[in-house]
Amino acid sequence: MKAFEWTNPTTVNEAVKMLVASPGDIDEAPRPLAGGQDLLTTMKDYTSRPTRLVNLKNIRGLNKITLNARGLTIGTLVTLTELEEHAGVRKSFPGLAEAANSIATPQIRNLGTVGGNLCQRPRCWYFRLEEVICLKKGGSECYAASGENKYNAIIGGGPSYIVHPSDLAPVLLALGATVTVMGATGKRVIPLDKFFTLPTEGDIRRENVLKNEEIITEIHVPASPLAARSTYLKFKERESLDFAIASAAVAVRLAGRMVQDARIVLGGVAPVPWRVPAAEKFLVGKELKPDVLAEAAKIALADAQPLEKNAYKVPLAQTLVRRALAKAGGV
Ligand SMILES: Cc1cc2nc3c(=O)[nH]c(=O)nc-3n(C[C@H](O)[C@H](O)[C@H](O)COP(=O)(O)OP(=O)(O)OC[C@H]3O[C@@H](n4cnc5c(N)ncnc54)[C@H](O)[C@@H]3O)c2cc1C
Repeated sequence: MKAFEWTNPTTVNEAVKMLVASPGDIDEAPRPLAGGQDLLTTMKDYTSRPTRLVNLKNIRGLNKITLNARGLTIGTLVTLTELEEHAGVRKSFPGLAEAANSIATPQIRNLGTVGGNLCQRPRCWYFRLEEVICLKKGGSECYAASGENKYNAIIGGGPSYIVHPSDLAPVLLALGATVTVMGATGKRVIPLDKFFTLPTEGDIRRENVLKNEEIITEIHVPASPLAARSTYLKFKERESLDFAIASAAVAVRLAGRMVQDARIVLGGVAPVPWRVPAAEKFLVGKELKPDVLAEAAKIALADAQPLEKNAYKVPLAQTLVRRALAKAGGV
């Protein structure tokens, strides 16, 4: 691990000031530290080499969960365990509690935070290998494109084929969440569908629109009739702990047996959590019968363009969509 300066701000403004520093390179610049469950691993293998760590954990007020008529507000330092165990979240936003529960191990969930989960770096093994300077680390090639790509993107990939690793992101996107961010020029509120970036959008070395000196302070999920019928299904290779090979976040609103509104977001298959509006639209006005579920799942993966070794993800994700819709719809 490269030597770094350790700082302990007690306010968000102080933290932002400590993050404002050159160089602009994401892998070298000062970084905010939350639970450290991702950042420290990238530092240990030199994937990131921040000159300074800005510890967020001494900033008061960033670890609260508030649930009221306007919806759910989650402080960035809320741990995955706190989210998963919150009675109101379990009752009114079940998909979110399920997603939190699906992450890693109890020990990692006790330390890992919601903000850190959204901002964690990709898990592609080429990206994580110290010796490999791939496209995402400033090199000229995405080695996954023609190499060992069984875990990589089947949708929205190119020229980099990472998948976004966050399990919370698909559900939060399905539920229309926004993130509040503080930076050198003040506060901004970003809808989650404008937060994550494809490799072709913006800076290929980043996965979201945050600037170096910006920190997430909270995540807001609006109250919505969709939330109570939300669910998250994840397929992982190791049952004990693993990242999603594919996942589906689904939320539906029913009138009787008919779908009035639906949200479907795929995880583990694209460089960003991947919403599928065509499948959502197809469902409106229909009953969640087996043929409808199968057709919606087919539409959801219609844009898939698998690489040489990951075509298996297509039927896997289709199955997750079908089962998640059935579960959310109670059929
Ligand atoms: C063995 C293992 C298994 C895992 N399995 C899963 C899994 O199944 N699913 C999953 O989703 N994740 C998984 N993770 C990834 C991750 O550790 C957790 O999801 C966790 O939530 C990360 O949160 P953290 O607070 O520890 O983040 P940190 O490591 O502190 O930070 C992660 C990144 O986010 C940035 N950051 C942190 N907070 C903020 C903020 N407020 N504003 C801006 N940037 C910020 C940091 O600078 C850093 O770049 C796993 C990790 C490990 C080690």
